[in-house]
Amino acid sequence: MDNFDVVVIGSGPGGYVCAIRCSQLGLKTALIEKYDALGGTCLNVGCIPSKSLLDSSHHYDDAIKHFDSHGITIEGSIKVNLEKMISRKQNVVDQTTKGIEFLMSKNKIKVYNGLGSFLDSHTVKIDNSSNITKISFKNAVIATGSKPTSLPFAKIDKKRIITSTEALKLKEIPKKLIVIGGGVIGLELGQVYNRLGAEVSVIEYSNTITPFMDSAVSKELIRIFKKQKIKFYLSHKVFNVSVNKDNVNVDAEDSNGNKISFSGDYCLVSVGRKPYTEGLNLKALNIITNDKGQIDVNNHLQTKIENIYAIGDVVRGPMLAHKAEEEGVMAAEIIAKQKPHIDYNLIPNVIYTWPEVASVGKTEEQLINDGIEFKKGQFPMRALGRARASMDIDGFVKILADKKTDEILGVHIIGARAADLIAEAVTAMEFRASAEDISRMSHSHPTYAEAIKEAALAATEDRALHM
Ligand SMILES: Cc1cc2nc3c(=O)[nH]c(=O)nc-3n(C[C@H](O)[C@H](O)[C@H](O)COP(=O)(O)OP(=O)(O)OC[C@H]3O[C@@H](n4cnc5c(N)ncnc54)[C@H](O)[C@@H]3O)c2cc1C
Repeated sequence: MDNFDVVVIGSGPGGYVCAIRCSQLGLKTALIEKYDALGGTCLNVGCIPSKSLLDSSHHYDDAIKHFDSHGITIEGSIKVNLEKMISRKQNVVDQTTKGIEFLMSKNKIKVYNGLGSFLDSHTVKIDNSSNITKISFKNAVIATGSKPTSLPFAKIDKKRIITSTEALKLKEIPKKLIVIGGGVIGLELGQVYNRLGAEVSVIEYSNTITPFMDSAVSKELIRIFKKQKIKFYLSHKVFNVSVNKDNVNVDAEDSNGNKISFSGDYCLVSVGRKPYTEGLNLKALNIITNDKGQIDVNNHLQTKIENIYAIGDVVRGPMLAHKAEEEGVMAAEIIAKQKPHIDYNLIPNVIYTWPEVASVGKTEEQLINDGIEFKKGQFPMRALGRARASMDIDGFVKILADKKTDEILGVHIIGARAADLIAEAVTAMEFRASAEDISRMSHSHPTYAEAIKEAALAATEDRALHM
């Protein structure tokens, strides 16, 4: 039986990054993945394919709505070739997952394809339908990720009632797409099909979209989405979803008890994801998942069994690829007896719609709830030369800083390239910068990043220069 210092189960961003870091630290490492392609949810049916479709549909949207104002005239009609768009997306996915295979071999990580299940706290069995292999380990890292969840009355048939996985490979553009759930995934995929011509209705149980966001940002995002003709039904509770041939019927009730029915050709159920532990045989370890289905871990990402760690979507915290990656690195370094640390407050949240949304640290509502005195500076994108040049004038940057010390406590961005801009805020906050620190740094002109400097000026002394 082969023996490893570390066996990682699951090859998503948590698992494969953990395996690379283990190998860098001189640990003999194996990676087990039940699917043929490495990369997990993120690379195969998550981050990468969704961004690929967002980019393609954005080009189309620009072509039909914005080229003309840039002085670009297209003779003849512009059409979407969905099959080609989906196949381009698949090429991007394939290239990316092949890249992980390359990284595994470069780092001399032994990859096993098959379902990994524990036999005891030092042995795992890998079942790949044609044969069963057993390997032993000193340490194991569970990185088995998550799966879409549904509503008890909405049976996912994968044809008309679909999850994000099916929405990433539809064969036709929906005429009417009903999206249940106004979270990140529903909004991103809703915008893809809205741009391609579908009439999109988002039904959300709470009174706002993406509740983790600062409320000023979510209000602005809804306002912009409405301009893009996406319909929102907030504070609506869906209680029935049924299919009749090619038609999906969704019944919901608003907060006053008024009933409303929606009819469409597709219904995307994007009400969240649940941790995935099926097949792991956790009972061999005497590990029971908590009421959210997560594996409980301590601050060192250890389960109740000292040499068995768990990371990523399968444990507490935001279900984000970069959070899983950080935990992958952290678990590897702890196994190698180092003392790494993650500041979970500084894991950024991003929505890759257009405009993009990105935030880090505390929202205004959280600071109020926590009784922390703060000052804020907000700067609109439309006041930037760069934004006017590209015609991406929607959105703003909002910086929240401690009232006495001026330390930055939260940064919330909605606008072009927010996903990239947030990195400056994360860096600043990791170094515990003050708003004044940012306001005194040179920001290249003309860039969207100037809005961060201006918001910092506004937060420090209410002295934005261009407003
Ligand atoms: C549509 C969509 C878009 C997203 N977009 C973003 C985004 O833009 N940015 C972002 O940060 N996050 C995004 N996410 C979330 C992100 O994909 C996840 O947070 C991330 O993939 C979690 O990584 P992980 O390593 O914990 O698990 P996963 O990526 O889920 O990987 C787990 C792997 O473990 C394997 N596995 C499970 N059980 C076993 C077993 N017993 N034996 C062997 N293998 C097993 C699975 O097959 C899978 O490959 C998106 C998710 C979706 C669905």
